Amino acid sequence: MLTKKQIVEKLRELGLKTGDKVLLHSSTVSLGEVKGGPKAVLDAFLEVLGASGTLLVPIFGRLGILTDLIRDDPRAVKSPCPVGTVAAIGADAEALCHDHWTAETAHGVGTPFHRLGEMGGYVCLLGVDQDRNTLLHGIEAMLQLPYLNSTTRTFTLPNGKEVTKEFKYYPGPHRNFIGLDHRLRAAGALKELRLGNAEVRLMSAKELWRLGMEWGKEDPAFVLCDNPACADCVKQHAAIARDSFARESFRLAMSSRLAGRYVPEMIENLQACGIDLVELDYIQGKSVAQFPSAKLSSFVQEFTDAKITVESIRLDYLPADLDTLARSMLESGVLRLVLPLITGAETICKQLEHSGLELEFTNVALGGTAFRELQKQLADQCGVRFNPVNFVRAGEMPFLCSYGAGRFIRTMTSLDVNDALWDGPARRLAQGNAEIKELVSIVRCRNFAGTLVLGGGAPCATDARQFCQDFEELLATI
Ligand SMILES: [Zn+2]
Repeated sequence: MLTKKQIVEKLRELGLKTGDKVLLHSSTVSLGEVKGGPKAVLDAFLEVLGASGTLLVPIFGRLGILTDLIRDDPRAVKSPCPVGTVAAIGADAEALCHDHWTAETAHGVGTPFHRLGEMGGYVCLLGVDQDRNTLLHGIEAMLQLPYLNSTTRTFTLPNGKEVTKEFKYYPGPHRNFIGLDHRLRAAGALKELRLGNAEVRLMSAKELWRLGMEWGKEDPAFVLCDNPACADCVKQHAAIARDSFARESFRLAMSSRLAGRYVPEMIENLQACGIDLVELDYIQGKSVAQFPSAKLSSFVQEFTDAKITVESIRLDYLPADLDTLARSMLESGVLRLVLPLITGAETICKQLEHSGLELEFTNVALGGTAFRELQKQLADQCGVRFNPVNFVRAGEMPFLCSYGAGRFIRTMTSLDVNDALWDGPARRLAQGNAEIKELVSIVRCRNFAGTLVLGGGAPCATDARQFCQDFEELLATI
């Protein structure tokens, strides 16, 4: 059975001393048997910190017996805020807690969590893991991570006045805070020892803020889990991806063939990838033009209902019944048609001249120079879709040869993002001969405002989510 004296000794061994300020998260049950119960644990902390020290506990979410004890202690000061509320006992209780409600966020600047770092305090986890570390919410808020939402509360101030206020960057559902332990340990920022049955961890709040900010700036997903079955983190990852795509000059779409086989599956994958545009090429393994007009409209409606815009329709051949296709596109509000540049393209170009549809031609079995010659014959009226994989199949290096030879810098209106080897098989991005990294880099350099279509115009070597992750990694390395 643990005694108060033993607890005091261990806390001192951990490095705590008179005058320290400590934010404590605890589960006294994990200590095992303590003589005098949770009260003895509280007394041990207060003895170590002395009259000049301060003990804080969060009093929201899952509370423990020790937390209850502190919250109900007549000496405790409670931070005046309906979110992220803490209770504090000690010399700096007021300095840490005052005006908490006036802060922009529940856990960031102007809150007890941030002040603790400024004032040289500590975070202690007693028998609980990083999952309970509320200071980490403050780091997320300070980083303004794109997956955080705001929350609005109506509450009564200490002076009796009622106010309604929005707290920004409020924490969401699941986070993988426990994954931070090994990083903190490696950074030498974690003091650990065993007290009874409990693991006790102590961190400098200032160091935690510093490291968290550094890691989060490098990787905004640093506290999210990678479990594809965790719906919360899939959604949060998507918010980060959407935010980073929105910073690019180009618009980002995905081909329906890459997105999935059936429309609901496509929608789920597009949402998980943070992509809001789709190019319809194949649905259920069939070319979109093979579906009756009403069916096409209902597909488009399904996407629209899910806040996904159908950017274009793409065929691998020239349509026999152009009028029907054009009519059904106009009816469903899809205004761009992508076709291969082959014999007959000129006729189609003329036929659609005043239709209200935008036409884009893409390279098929030609090199860059030959493509450009054919395209000139269309008098540059139509847009150009650059397909690197087809240039590879035509035996050209898409960036070093086709791009320059075809003067695509002037004519290109959109780019297929895909990869393949010389002899044909699809490869993951930047693992084939399509020079896709160079192409994405060059369009980025010139602030290209056209569309990039993930998986456009060719089968892909991997599924939608892996493909999108590969693309994000490619963007991060150029
Ligand atoms: Zn998760």
